[in-house]
Amino acid sequence: MNIIIFGPPGAGKGTQAKKLQQKYNLPHLSTGNIFRENIKNETPLGKKVKSILDSGDLVPDETVVDLVKDELSKAKYDNGVILDGFPRTVAQAKALDSFLEENDKKIDAFLTLSVPEEELVNRILSRGEGRSDDNPEKVKNRLSVYHNETAPVLNHYKEKDAVKEIDGVGSIDEIFDRIQKSLF
Ligand code: ADP
Repeated sequence: MNIIIFGPPGAGKGTQAKKLQQKYNLPHLSTGNIFRENIKNETPLGKKVKSILDSGDLVPDETVVDLVKDELSKAKYDNGVILDGFPRTVAQAKALDSFLEENDKKIDAFLTLSVPEEELVNRILSRGEGRSDDNPEKVKNRLSVYHNETAPVLNHYKEKDAVKEIDGVGSIDEIFDRIQKSLF
């Protein structure tokens, strides 16, 4: 099963992706986590993307698409994946569509988490993960990048019929229940 978990920063994508991973034994692919790991380990990729993540802008499509294609070509994703943080632009979505088609795969569910904007900001600023992009100025930029560049990805998938809209307000378990009901 190939699942995309989608939504603005702070919507709870990573949290719910981890729960899906545990329950259904599907690998979780978070582009944000991969970038942060590379920055921490000071790899060439990490050096290239550090200032971009710090500002809350998007890493260039080509860089992200190459990374995801490489990753998805590994055997551990043969039975499916939970994509978190990707695709984040319509160009990324189109590149993913072609890649999946070439490999006789498809997206089974596109889960979009809705959370009101003020709650997003509160959640991010109170989560205390120590991320360099979790401060008011950067959060403002990340939300505007989301609205301008990422939100159109939802319309792209709406045309394809796999979209499940999930109310992202409530306890972690309540939201996970809603996700499971939408999937099965
Ligand atoms: P959040 O959803 O809270 O913003 P992520 O961990 O998904 O956090 O992403 C953190 C940062 O990593 C983004 O602000 C962006 O700079 C970069 N990034 C992650 N995924 C992508 C992507 N698919 N395309 C471009 N940049 C990305």
